Amino acid sequence: MSRPLLFAANWKMHLGPDEARAHLKTFRARYNRREHQDVWFFPPAVSLEAAAQAVRERTDLLVGAQDIYWEPKGAFTGAISAALALQAGARATLVGHSERRHLFGETDEDTRRKVGAALAAGLVPLLCVGETLAERDSGHTLAVVVRQLAAALGALDRAALPRVIVAYEPVWAIGTGRYATPADAAAVHKEIRTWLQGHGSASPRILYGGSVNAKNVAELLAEPELDGVLVGGASLDPEAWAQLVQGGAA
Ligand code: PEP
Repeated sequence: MSRPLLFAANWKMHLGPDEARAHLKTFRARYNRREHQDVWFFPPAVSLEAAAQAVRERTDLLVGAQDIYWEPKGAFTGAISAALALQAGARATLVGHSERRHLFGETDEDTRRKVGAALAAGLVPLLCVGETLAERDSGHTLAVVVRQLAAALGALDRAALPRVIVAYEPVWAIGTGRYATPADAAAVHKEIRTWLQGHGSASPRILYGGSVNAKNVAELLAEPELDGVLVGGASLDPEAWAQLVQGGAA
């Protein structure tokens, strides 16, 4: 039996409701369910409901939010809570994506609160961690990743940790066309796995993200440390995305 794989599409600030519907219609037509393989979509908040509707008959396809705010409700203009995302059809949420951390000033402490809010509402948190180029060049990759894990997850109940998925996304590889070699990614994944197992997650799912495309996905997923991929740019075109998802499992 092949290991379960998760392919996650982060649409970032692309694809409104009509475009989301059209994307998913094409994708569903091109991609037949495969055993032990899930495909998750993270559309912008305005497209959550349309996307969730479009995949409702496929249990292997699921929709998540790109970000949530930790407060349950109130005067937080522009933000959405975990409960609102859930109402719109989300079953998961990204937390700590590097664009949130580096463009919007999200802190490690914010990621802790968001993971807690997601779990409390019943959303699966997909926590993103990863080092900048300067941190990598100065030999701090593992220290940065462990700091981000400890800050976001260190205080969690051991029983809750298995519900968290982690994506290792080196900041220098996101949207740049550069990607970690499978061996480099695997070394970081091993460290993440050891940390998660040491804190109560017996068989954690750890994805790799950063310039994954239909050409490099098979090479990356040939590395058994990778339980799937989180993909931005290459997930926007439904035909190319279907090809990538199929290529990864070949
Ligand atoms: C991402 O947005 O998480 C990502 C990995 O982007 P890209 O695939 O475009 O590098």
